[in-house]
Amino acid sequence: MKHRIVVLGAGYAGAYVAGTLARRLDPAEVRITVVNAEPDFVQRLRLHQLAAGQEIAAPPLADVFAGTGVRLRLARVAAVDPERRVVAVAESDGASGRGRGDGGGGGGGGGGGAIEYDTLVYALGSHGAAHGVPGVAQYAFDVAARPAALRLRARLDVLDARGDGGSVVVVGDGLTGIETATEIAESRPGLSVTLIARREPGARLSTGARGHLRRACDRLGVTVLEHTGVEAVEAGRVLCVDGGVLASDATVWTAGFAVAPIAATAGLDVAADGRIVVDRTMRSVSHPDVYAVGDSAHAIGDNGLPLPMSCASAGYTGRQATTAIVARLTGGEVTHTGLEYVGNHISLGRRDGILQMVDGDAQAKPRFLGGRKAARIKAGILRMSLWTTSHPTFGLPARKRRLAPAPPAPTRRTAVRPLGNGSGEAARG
Ligand SMILES: Cc1cc2nc3c(=O)[nH]c(=O)nc-3n(C[C@H](O)[C@H](O)[C@H](O)COP(=O)(O)OP(=O)(O)OC[C@H]3O[C@@H](n4cnc5c(N)ncnc54)[C@H](O)[C@@H]3O)c2cc1C
Repeated sequence: MKHRIVVLGAGYAGAYVAGTLARRLDPAEVRITVVNAEPDFVQRLRLHQLAAGQEIAAPPLADVFAGTGVRLRLARVAAVDPERRVVAVAESDGASGRGRGDGGGGGGGGGGGAIEYDTLVYALGSHGAAHGVPGVAQYAFDVAARPAALRLRARLDVLDARGDGGSVVVVGDGLTGIETATEIAESRPGLSVTLIARREPGARLSTGARGHLRRACDRLGVTVLEHTGVEAVEAGRVLCVDGGVLASDATVWTAGFAVAPIAATAGLDVAADGRIVVDRTMRSVSHPDVYAVGDSAHAIGDNGLPLPMSCASAGYTGRQATTAIVARLTGGEVTHTGLEYVGNHISLGRRDGILQMVDGDAQAKPRFLGGRKAARIKAGILRMSLWTTSHPTFGLPARKRRLAPAPPAPTRRTAVRPLGNGSGEAARG
């Protein structure tokens, strides 16, 4: 029987892992299935642009995996049973109307059921974190997933059409809040945009970069309320901890990312924030036939700190997991690939941006690059990340390695738990 590799999630991390494994392993011996709720590859990095009203490419996953041998199953992952090695899936909205999968390598898929695996790669990403603030789930918009970004876009269209200068309040002092506020302000100059920050927006940036950010907000007409906590969101208004009340026609919540409880419910060893605790090779420390990559993984970077939820981390963890899986299945030596956190690229609308590199302790270096050049570099990175993810096997040598005669049977709880206590901060959010 073929070794069954199931990859949950086809975002930046999952799509890379599935494509790379397909290129490296012999299809006569391995069957690779990707399960994803959405039919398209969603460029999460650009969802604030989508919300602001811009068009962004979303290549169908069936095209992305066409010819790779990867089987695509459009379904929502409902649960994982790591003891029986089964994934329970339910039909996703994206699957309806797409037909059943052809099982051949890139077709559609859909429907509920159970999928058995021998090796599981968990890459379900993250969603917006409400932090238990009342009213966020009912009244706030977010940009963490495509449906949410489209709902916000529809609301902004209504406000724009009204033509009376509707108010948009973006809550969150992280990079996603900054990108969202500046993007909306630039794309929809008829609306008034306020950014509410618990601390200072971009508090982890260098002094110079924070100055650049302040000037960009001034130029774009974004009102910044610093050191202001939000205690509740209601219909049409935001209630601040200091008693202040802000009228808001659209409140956008961007206060960090959280992961689904699927892994914790499954009994996988997770950190305090629900991310799967992995060893240096991205293997679950509690269930060695499970790997976690991207936002779902609590991985310790080369600097000894938890890797932030980011596109770069998705790439690094994906590469490490792929290298380890191929080596273990084919009897090769497991090598370590780099797990670095080098910095952030932040867009401030389409014509401005900030590139901020960090040192070995993840602290901002004093120098930064701001302005049009930074915006162009960020745009190039976005193009490249789309291209590489939507051509997952391009340029990879097709070394179809045979499986080792008797792959070592994984034993439970043998891996060494990495350093770190699960308090990994998302650099985004
Ligand atoms: C607006 C915005 C801007 C950002 N900008 C940057 C940036 O500039 N730089 C940066 O490094 N990071 C940025 N990020 C963060 C970055 O997008 C994430 O860290 C990255 O997408 C993580 O990749 P991933 O593969 O782990 O998860 P994702 O890309 O989220 O992929 C997860 C996949 O799993 C699927 N999925 C989820 N749940 C289920 C389920 N139950 N069943 C089936 N499928 C499921 C999703 O549909 C998706 O395809 C940004 C995020 C947002 C929201």
